[in-house]
Amino acid sequence: MIEEVFTDSFDKSQPDVIGLSVPFAGNLYGALKIGKVCAELSRKRKISIRRVMGGGYVNTELRELSDIRLFDYIDDLCFDDGERPLELILEDETNKIKNRSAATSTASAAPTGRLRTWQREQGQITKLSSANEKDVAFKTLPGPDFRGLRLSDYVSLLEMPNPMHRLWSDQRWNKMILAHGCYWKKCTFCDVSLDYIGRFEPARVDQLIQQIEDVIEQTGTTGFHFVDEAAPPALLKSLSQELINRKIKITWWGNLRFDKQFTPELAALMADAGCVAVTGGLEVASPRVLKLINKGLEIEQAARVMKAFTAHNVYVHAYLMYGFPTQTDQETIDSLEIVRQLFVENCMHSAFWHRFLATAHSPVGLAPKKFGIKIPQPAKPAPGLFARYETPFVDPTAKAEGHQTELGEGLRRALYNYMHGLGFKTPLKEWFDIRVPKTKIAPQLIRKTLR
Ligand code: SF4
Repeated sequence: MIEEVFTDSFDKSQPDVIGLSVPFAGNLYGALKIGKVCAELSRKRKISIRRVMGGGYVNTELRELSDIRLFDYIDDLCFDDGERPLELILEDETNKIKNRSAATSTASAAPTGRLRTWQREQGQITKLSSANEKDVAFKTLPGPDFRGLRLSDYVSLLEMPNPMHRLWSDQRWNKMILAHGCYWKKCTFCDVSLDYIGRFEPARVDQLIQQIEDVIEQTGTTGFHFVDEAAPPALLKSLSQELINRKIKITWWGNLRFDKQFTPELAALMADAGCVAVTGGLEVASPRVLKLINKGLEIEQAARVMKAFTAHNVYVHAYLMYGFPTQTDQETIDSLEIVRQLFVENCMHSAFWHRFLATAHSPVGLAPKKFGIKIPQPAKPAPGLFARYETPFVDPTAKAEGHQTELGEGLRRALYNYMHGLGFKTPLKEWFDIRVPKTKIAPQLIRKTLR
């Protein structure tokens, strides 16, 4: 099917270069398949097509790629922000085409530079980056351009009745970014050493308003998903104000930190400006582990921020984590109790438990000793292995591996019920198939906090 759809699209547009965006691991197979079909078409038709790959998966998971066979499917692999690297490749291709069609001309174009681009040269992976090439500043980038997309062909997926999952997949949202990177960039499990998190650069409000208006005109739709790592409160405040002043009626949602700057007044303003949902990481609702994570949050403060949103009918979804290095069963159970109370007090509507992973680019992955864990060697992928991102680790304080899995199952079982408004009175131990300690959290902690 990919072959058929791609060949059809290829025949219509007859490209010299194709760009393959791989945001997630799940997109890799399709991209490689397209790269292969493209090579076959080039051979059969005796034409040359350059295949360029980039995207979030590449930026996070292929930084230590050692398997050269990837270049059987693509010609260039670009890392981090793709605008300038791609522009340089396009300039290079344009020069080649010009040189081919004007073989008699004496003028030959100057060689173009490269920026964070890998290629295969003489059986080796060559990493190219010219010293004088720089990224385009985020503030000067144009907004997204949706022209040419057959929007009516998008399929609505109803994977789960959970309203948050419906927000993700039940309809198409116009995607936009308010700021490059994260203004906090300190969480120890996060890829803060990488450009997409570590380089914070907000857009200007007038620029965003213009982009929103352009996108509405292009798509005829007014639903926006701001796909920021953590949308900055000051920018959301001025954007909301401006949307209201200019009477621009849109519906929007995005990801943020439950930062104390999100006051009840700001939550009200955002709701008035069309905000319908916010997502954010609460991670582990345990003060000690939150400190280790360096989230810059306190549970009480996060609860007040969440409540400010739900009080204005803004849907709140929280990301939760378990299995952080040195996290005890007691802390996990206490975390679940806080989550239970947050549901009871209507501070959030849905949540998801992620099991902690040590990634190669996070502070934990970069300095495991500091967090009391060991990352067994080899730290680099052995020759022939594909790439290194999620690094297996040993936590000497943790119980057996299977124990975490059983804890995870119990946590998910409890959460599933809470999201359906059920099981709030069920003793926590009943969600688990293993023995767990009693919670030490006071039963009215969140209620008192909110008061
Ligand atoms: S986890 Fe979120 S808030 Fe923390 S550094 Fe990463 S992007 Fe920022």
